Amino acid sequence: MRLDYLTIFPDFFAPLELSLPGKAAASGLLDLGVHDLRRWAHDRHRTVDDTPYGGGAGMVMKPEPWGEAFAEVLSAGSDTGERSTIVFTTPSGERFDQRLAEELSTREHLVFACGRYEGIDQRVIDHAREIAEVREISLGDYVLNGGEVAALAVTEAVVRLLPGFMGNAASLVEESHAEGGLLEYPVYTKPRSWEGRDVPDVLLSGDHGAIARWRHAEAVRRTAERRPDLLTPSVLDDGTPIVRAV
Ligand code: SAM
Repeated sequence: MRLDYLTIFPDFFAPLELSLPGKAAASGLLDLGVHDLRRWAHDRHRTVDDTPYGGGAGMVMKPEPWGEAFAEVLSAGSDTGERSTIVFTTPSGERFDQRLAEELSTREHLVFACGRYEGIDQRVIDHAREIAEVREISLGDYVLNGGEVAALAVTEAVVRLLPGFMGNAASLVEESHAEGGLLEYPVYTKPRSWEGRDVPDVLLSGDHGAIARWRHAEAVRRTAERRPDLLTPSVLDDGTPIVRAV
């Protein structure tokens, strides 16, 4: 998978060199490109923003640098001729979740367009739809200063789903928000007793069936308690929780 980032703050993406994404890039699983949008601004001050038509507070990102940046980054992107996907991070986009991460993990080339100021001139998004698949994605119902943090969060959720990325692919199967929709059960490690708190006996029993049943019951309990919206109404009405295969 190739990932490109268009931003006026390239330093935000230094964490991509760390930990698993860094290793995946070194091993060739990921191809990363971070680009300063100002490279495609041609005036003396490398201007990427201007005042909004119609008036109002703040500045809007100008279309021309984005147009040139897309032309260059898309042509370098996909070896197989498959269309690239441009991800605009925006609080007015579709809410990011695990399903969307799974969908994006099937793409060959993602280009993250990171907004700043009051956002990007609408014509950039309209233009992008003609040259690529476009997804407008929100991290949640709050406003950040820029799209960089959102792009990093989406990246991390997507690349850990790529085959070969995780050392142990089984870690992905039982996670919160994985297929089945439940939150994950509580987890424990050594020591067996800490600060007067013991690991639940069943986890020490060696009885795999009992452990699986306990984990499933805990996952259902935790989901009902913390995120009842993840359970279907029929489940809540008759008290029978969704059964997820464990
Ligand atoms: N004026 C915009 C609005 O009200 O929708 C907010 C602009 S925000 C200050 C600047 C940039 O931060 C946005 O263009 C977007 O790229 C990014 N951003 C802010 N909140 C975000 C969120 N919840 N999810 C994804 N990106 C976000």
